[in-house]
Amino acid sequence: MKRWQKALQDNYGTPTIELVSGKGSVVKDANGNTYLDFLAGIATNVLGHAHPAIVKSVTKQISTLGHVSNFYAHPNVLELAEKLQKLTGDKGARVFFCNSGAEANEAALKLSRKTGKYKVVATQEAFHGRTMGALSLTGQPSKRNPFKPLIKGIKHVPFGDSAVMKRVITKKTAMVIVEPIMGEAGVIVPPSDYLKNLRQYCDDNGALLVFDCVQTGMGRTGDWFGYEYSGIKPDVITLAKGLGGGLPLGAMIALGSASKLFVAGDHGSTFGGNPVATAAALSVISAIEKEKILSHVDEVGEYLLTELALIPGVTEVRGAGLLIGLTLNAPVAKALTKKCQDLGALINAPGDSTIRIAPALNVSMKQAQKFVVIFSQAMKEVSHV
Ligand SMILES: *Cc1c(COP(=O)(O)O)cnc(C)c1O
Repeated sequence: MKRWQKALQDNYGTPTIELVSGKGSVVKDANGNTYLDFLAGIATNVLGHAHPAIVKSVTKQISTLGHVSNFYAHPNVLELAEKLQKLTGDKGARVFFCNSGAEANEAALKLSRKTGKYKVVATQEAFHGRTMGALSLTGQPSKRNPFKPLIKGIKHVPFGDSAVMKRVITKKTAMVIVEPIMGEAGVIVPPSDYLKNLRQYCDDNGALLVFDCVQTGMGRTGDWFGYEYSGIKPDVITLAKGLGGGLPLGAMIALGSASKLFVAGDHGSTFGGNPVATAAALSVISAIEKEKILSHVDEVGEYLLTELALIPGVTEVRGAGLLIGLTLNAPVAKALTKKCQDLGALINAPGDSTIRIAPALNVSMKQAQKFVVIFSQAMKEVSHV
């Protein structure tokens, strides 16, 4: 901890444990303690740690060719772009690769300027990243306020409210951006007709509809992309987190006519679509398909939703697939997170009374059962203090 404080800038504060190895959904710290990893690198390690397919493809790629830049083509980049295109169900979709969620949303914001308009509608409490453009889209005052002035023309409205969206989306709107389910805000699920309504309002006004699927993409919700239940398609999908299965990789996918907005010279990235990161992503997609992980996500997610709701002190459980948020009856989320860690499970507290869990998508039912026992015990112990 002393070394951390001396050498690293504070971002989430000083960590209390140091992780050194992992296998599947179990990680080990420097003292040899093991933990069930129910945060999975903040929803990134969709196949868990050291998945053989990722180890194999990454090892093979780094031993063959490391980085080529976007001046040259590489088979992995081509294959991954075609694969993502297929998953969106739009043959005309085109992909821009970058390295993170913030960069994917920066790309979407720049793309929207190519409509000739600049006004943007985003939602309060949404998280879209920390760089200046992405932060301007983010709707959390605590993250925004120290860095004002941010980009002009971006309006934040309450999440899930179709009536207010209908009012604020006009012919001057360049783009509307929402998370299909707000992740960092504590796993907030909108009314079932919300995304469909947004599609309508954007169509009526010629605005781009952007779904930030950085957290809800790549199978997290039991679908490839977190919006699929709505039956509509956005104009732009942003991805990162799970895409690289633990390696840094982001993507901004533009569908339909939006795919033609960027022309050569408009945008770029040195590392985006790196052969090694894309090798990992190809392994992620093929493992999700081969191991039938999407239906597994539904099954384990359903089990956790049901079991966690029965624990005394838990007042609400919500989410989709393996992105689950809980509300507690007291502001003990930080203490509970620490207690779970002591008892051998890693979780996250996005708020004083809010818990988020996002395990690897291939977490076993047995591990989910063990997690429920640990969580339940931790709840009992923190409720007594
Ligand atoms: C994490 C996250 C981001 C930012 O991704 P980074 O890789 O940290 O830049 C953007 N949007 C959503 C929905 C996220 O969950």
